[in-house]
Amino acid sequence: MKKISSFLVLVLMTAFFVGCGGKADSSDGVYEGVGQGKGGDLKVEVKIEDLGITDIKILEESETAGYAASLSTLINDIIKYNSTDVDTVSGSTLSSNGLLEAVKDALDKAGIDPKDLKQVKQEEDDGVKEEVSEEYDVIVVGAGGAGLAAAIEAKMDGANVLVVEKMPIAGGNTLISGAEYAAPGNWIQEKEGIEDNPQLMVEDTLEGGDHINDRDLVTVVAENALEDAIWLRDEIGVIWEDELMFFGGHSVKRSLIPLGASGREIINKQLAKAEELEIPIYLETKAEELIMEDGKVTGIKAESNNKSYTLTAKKGVIIASGGFGSNIDMRVKYNPEIDDKILSTNTVGSTGDGITMGEKVNADLVGMEWIQTYPICDPLTGTLLYFDDARLFGHTVIVNKEGKRFVEELGRRDVMSMAIKEQTGSVCYEIIDENGYVESKLEQNHKPELDYLFENDLLVKADTLEEAAEKFDLNVDEVVASVERYNTYVEDGEDPEFNKRSLPSKLEKGPFYILKAAPAVHHTMGGLKINTNAEVVDTAGNVIEGLFAAGEVTGGIHGKNRLGSNALADIIVFGRTAGRNAAGK
Ligand code: FAD
Repeated sequence: MKKISSFLVLVLMTAFFVGCGGKADSSDGVYEGVGQGKGGDLKVEVKIEDLGITDIKILEESETAGYAASLSTLINDIIKYNSTDVDTVSGSTLSSNGLLEAVKDALDKAGIDPKDLKQVKQEEDDGVKEEVSEEYDVIVVGAGGAGLAAAIEAKMDGANVLVVEKMPIAGGNTLISGAEYAAPGNWIQEKEGIEDNPQLMVEDTLEGGDHINDRDLVTVVAENALEDAIWLRDEIGVIWEDELMFFGGHSVKRSLIPLGASGREIINKQLAKAEELEIPIYLETKAEELIMEDGKVTGIKAESNNKSYTLTAKKGVIIASGGFGSNIDMRVKYNPEIDDKILSTNTVGSTGDGITMGEKVNADLVGMEWIQTYPICDPLTGTLLYFDDARLFGHTVIVNKEGKRFVEELGRRDVMSMAIKEQTGSVCYEIIDENGYVESKLEQNHKPELDYLFENDLLVKADTLEEAAEKFDLNVDEVVASVERYNTYVEDGEDPEFNKRSLPSKLEKGPFYILKAAPAVHHTMGGLKINTNAEVVDTAGNVIEGLFAAGEVTGGIHGKNRLGSNALADIIVFGRTAGRNAAGK
């Protein structure tokens, strides 16, 4: 029995156990069970009474924040339907499966086969949704990094704000990102004596985007990136680590790292601030269309499971619904090469809804064909692999199946991705030694991912380089020769083969680690055209009154190719800009 879809029937909440007589069953009691979640073991305690699941408590979990929170939806369903055959929560399949496995394990310990659980009698309703009309100053579509920045800013500027989010959890791609943030002239650069300024970031960004970027928009990002990183730190409570990352295409090391090298830090702190400011966030509420009156956007129509909303925005609507990396039809429409054979690093919510809604009110679109792939992803699922932090700290040598280097390890993402696609099996092998492993804090920040990689034979560890290379059946002699040559380049401070821009350490200390990886769709550079006030512009070049946009849903900022860590600066800077301007400050 799958959870019944909303348009068919909605089950009345009264769970009535057929034949329930209140008599104690021999399996009554509290049982523990363990499943494998996204982040490792997920342990639950399940209360069973008269062949009914009456309570589930999570005892232990290491799921990504937000994904763990989404499990409450699943727990409610298991109890409501008295069944483990319920739908997983969209966008958190691995965590959901872990929970279901843990509950089944507990049932097993109770000696109960899930199919013997008592049937729940369900009463159908008429499927009619409640019509709800509400009025706010500002309505934000999407509770990712841009949407939350916009909502917080608008509220701080005195507006009455609502956020609608279609997924059961807030955060979008921002939540699962590394959230490294380019901030020229930052305090760590000052400490390390690295000279930088916004103009240099503008030039790097234009160069990285092959000069089709909108220079004015890039300038807004670069000039406000540092101030907004400080805003995140001082107003929102984000903790930045005390070191920097060096992303491809940046001419200097300028990227801040949030605590734990994860977007969790940004989203958790933004959500805490939104709660403090009493900003309502309607989860599982999907914006469907913009309401236009007399050439002006005055609100949105949105749908939840049981409500149809007409939401009026007296001051403005801000679209912050993210990119379209998970929408294969839209990808292929604009770039036929990026088809369903290429996996994606994005959350399932990245389907370009804001672009579709904008188009219907004649918004202009820019750069839709420019879709970025990330070079180092899970060849099985497309998930971006944070093992790659080691590369961004400069510690990696990348080879192909034949054991040869073929690209600069700190090159542009598009260049690296295309180079990998050309290699045997369209995969690459990232090698680090113990020094790189420790220096990159892989155990500290990404332990569940490492466990997953080892279990799935995507990461190997061995005392010697030869042994590690053998495990992947690479050409061992060539691997050793490539690494030996690389080590001489580290000594010389120069890589004559591929001109790798950072050579911090040799690969010489065992154990050695090798990761197998492949590129996947990562970022969609195109989207709604905006001006420097984050106002959406129509196909005739006029501002669409009442409509603002920020974040990955917009186009023009990153040109043909986004530089790593530029998106976070973009979404916070333009999120705040949209919030401020929509609030009318
Ligand atoms: P999102 O964070 O994706 O939020 C959009 C939200 O809108 C989502 O929650 C979505 O569910 C919701 N939504 C969509 N449609 C609707 C609708 N119709 N109604 C209601 N809600 C809707 N960039 C960097 O700069 N540094 C990094 O280190 C970095 N690492 C990354 C790692 C990964 C794995 C990924 C996938 C991306 C990474 N990026 C990074 C890119 C960056 O994370 C994104 O570009 C950025 O987070 C997008 O923010 P956003 O707020 O625009 O969209």
